[in-house]
Amino acid sequence: MGATEVLGSLWTWHRGPLEGGGVVFDLDGVLSDAASRQHHLRGPRPDWEAFFAASGDDPLIDEVATLLHLLAPELCIVLLTARPARIRASTLGWLDRHQLRWDLLVMRKDGDRRPARHFKQEAVRAVRANGLQVALCVEDDLRNVEMFRSEGIPTLYIHSGYYE
Ligand SMILES: [Mg+2]
Repeated sequence: MGATEVLGSLWTWHRGPLEGGGVVFDLDGVLSDAASRQHHLRGPRPDWEAFFAASGDDPLIDEVATLLHLLAPELCIVLLTARPARIRASTLGWLDRHQLRWDLLVMRKDGDRRPARHFKQEAVRAVRANGLQVALCVEDDLRNVEMFRSEGIPTLYIHSGYYE
């Protein structure tokens, strides 16, 4: 599966091009249950390497996955995650194992240390600039929820409990 660099992000296509309406889903805390690896981020020195390395074992969040699969088939599904591109292979493996429906996976480039909301703002603007009418975002981090709403996109908040 090929990947393309777009601005500050890495795009991986699964199905057709971006057109018409679409829904943007976050991964960690929305489709992927990262609760068992949150402990890597606690304390004075968060261990992001260990946090991301363990992501392949996350359970699926069934309710959100059910919602995803109930969406109209013509909607384009974008997975927009602040995960770094270096865990792309394990992320693709996880998506495959759980047979999730998606069209475009957007990850951040390795070494990008901006706050996630800045990365996601740039990425969602690029997705819209490429022709997708983003009808809804689904997100568990309130800082990202606020950012998407400030972009004029209705956003469904999923309570993961990670970002309180
Ligand atoms: Mg999240």
